[in-house]
Amino acid sequence: MWIVPESAIPGLLDEADAFAAIESVFAAMARDDAYNFPVVREALGGGRQYGFKSGLDRAGGQLGVKAGGYFPGNAAKGMINHQSTVFLFDPDTGVLSAAVGGNLLTALRTAAASSVSIAHLARKDAKVLGMIGAGHQSAFQMRAAVKQRDFERVVGWNYHPEMLPRLAETAEALGLPFEAVSLDELGTQADVIISITSSEAASLMDAHVRPGTHIACMGTDTKGKQELEPAILARAGVFTDEVAQAVSIGECQHAVAQGLLAEGDITAIGAVINGAHPGRTSGDQITVFDGTGVGLQDIAVAAKAVELAREKDLAQEVAL
Ligand code: NAD
Repeated sequence: MWIVPESAIPGLLDEADAFAAIESVFAAMARDDAYNFPVVREALGGGRQYGFKSGLDRAGGQLGVKAGGYFPGNAAKGMINHQSTVFLFDPDTGVLSAAVGGNLLTALRTAAASSVSIAHLARKDAKVLGMIGAGHQSAFQMRAAVKQRDFERVVGWNYHPEMLPRLAETAEALGLPFEAVSLDELGTQADVIISITSSEAASLMDAHVRPGTHIACMGTDTKGKQELEPAILARAGVFTDEVAQAVSIGECQHAVAQGLLAEGDITAIGAVINGAHPGRTSGDQITVFDGTGVGLQDIAVAAKAVELAREKDLAQEVAL
């Protein structure tokens, strides 16, 4: 088996590698060539969360699981609070083939998912990127998004304004002007909005959003979290990574609970990638991508990491 430690991941995959892996596995999911197994998530006490996300990608020849969670005491010990490892198995024999550090890969695969949504759903003439959220994931999101459209500037809002320098520094490194704005200004100016917060109440309201906007809603990955007023989803074309997760733990949970959206109104983005669904149908349509985060994303980027690490002699081989 191969070991690709967390320390080997920085610089191994670029945004284009992650994009290709995620686009391909979303397409396989929509063809029923790949599917996710039920998620296990357990509270361990003291704020600790632990769980497994797993799946089988028949098209890509991958079987695997991401194990990990959230351990709030880590920061005081000099470690990051989110910790995960991806294990890959031979789908024919069940033999373990790789163990791959999953921390940085999680950020890369999440950013790749929203950038896939921008590539397939945002207006081609999008010029202004709006960021809601300025936490750890936000920089990865911005870096992946700017590869998809000719953005000329970035506007941002965050519930904790003291975190906004992260967005300003990331935009500056990308050579784009950045301005901190109100949510009202953000909705008026942005052609594409990425929302990546841990909020449990809507920040972006229906009145903020103008026609033609694409919203990649990436923060809501658990029951009870919420970023958008449900009325936005009621008037939008709604897309997701996996419909079952969108209605249970994704942003769609709220609009469905309020009877504003039905499961049948939600389209897997893989269907757009495969050409089975047209995606955006007009320049005025609002599109929402509910990115809930599925195990097959972790497996797809981990498999790519193993391939690249072996090529670059960064993977360690261990006899089983
Ligand atoms: P972080 O802790 O670094 O940042 C949290 C962000 O949420 C900050 O911008 C903070 O200001 C904001 N926030 C906190 N409370 C808020 C409130 N009440 N109202 C509005 N905003 C609030 O977290 P992160 O690592 O950047 O992750 C952000 C979110 O993305 C988390 O909810 C995380 O679980 C989720 N996430 C989703 C996926 C996925 O695949 N969909 C993957 C990774 C992380």
